[in-house]
Amino acid sequence: MNTAGPPLIEFRGASYTYRRGEEGEIPAVRGVDLRIERGEFIAVVGSNGSGKSTLAKMMNALLVPTEGEVIVDGKSAADDDKVWDIRRTVGMVFQNPDNQLVSTTVEEEVAFGLENLGVPTEEMHEAIDRVLAEIGLGEVRHREPHNLSGGQKQRVAIAAVLAMQPECIVMDEATSMLDPRGRIDVMDTVKHLCREHNLAVVFITHFMEEALEADRVVVFSEGTIVADGTSSSVFGDGIDLNAVGLDVPVVTALARGLNERGYAVDRTITGLDDLVEAVCQLRSKT
Ligand code: ADP
Ligand code: MG
Repeated sequence: MNTAGPPLIEFRGASYTYRRGEEGEIPAVRGVDLRIERGEFIAVVGSNGSGKSTLAKMMNALLVPTEGEVIVDGKSAADDDKVWDIRRTVGMVFQNPDNQLVSTTVEEEVAFGLENLGVPTEEMHEAIDRVLAEIGLGEVRHREPHNLSGGQKQRVAIAAVLAMQPECIVMDEATSMLDPRGRIDVMDTVKHLCREHNLAVVFITHFMEEALEADRVVVFSEGTIVADGTSSSVFGDGIDLNAVGLDVPVVTALARGLNERGYAVDRTITGLDDLVEAVCQLRSKT
């Protein structure tokens, strides 16, 4: 992670209120201050309706704050001239893969955004080859996206974003409709992109086990950030997750349960290996 210079994305007292006739005002995001650095892998967790998707859409100017500011790579989301720059810098992958794939082959799907940008044909072919190889989709490049598995579809969506050479990719519950295998493949793909290409990843999820993989976890509740830190600080003991409608990861719940029954097990353990080690230590002491 490169923390030199200004943050890649900065929320400064940013709010978003939906305004709808009958329902009146719905303050979905309320006065958020948040800095996301280049190359950072950050998970955002929060119960349904806590404002995660609204927050995500504010990261690439799909929504402009109704109060405060969101600055992406030095550009304000409120500046109409900068919207396209911002959307290129921060790509989004959504929950339902079928709603975001528009082309008849995988290759065309990746070409789509590049064509819109007017990238010359030669360059476009190079970019497609590079991106498909990177994401491990070379073998399916001529297939129809809708015939692929859920995990493959989401990797096609990631490839299409990656072709635009973004600095950040926001995954809005992008694994929630996938089977376990597909979830692991998508997670491995984003981890690889983060580590090898210094791509910032904002991974919105309601699977606590996925959030544990991130360098940093932000907990969102009723439109505000209620915890922000490493996964062991947030899941360990930092905050009452049940109070904000979330589960404690299974490993941590087990560590806490043992601790509460008087066993000398650190209640902030989040990793399976660490828990196994702690339990083995107990045995060697008896
Ligand atoms: P999450 O992604 O955490 O489930 P959302 O950002 O989708 O949360 O929603 C936050 C709040 O804003 C909820 O109360 C939701 O009903 C409301 N909301 C979301 N989208 C709209 C919309 N297009 N119009 C009005 N209200 C909305
Ligand atoms: Mg959502």
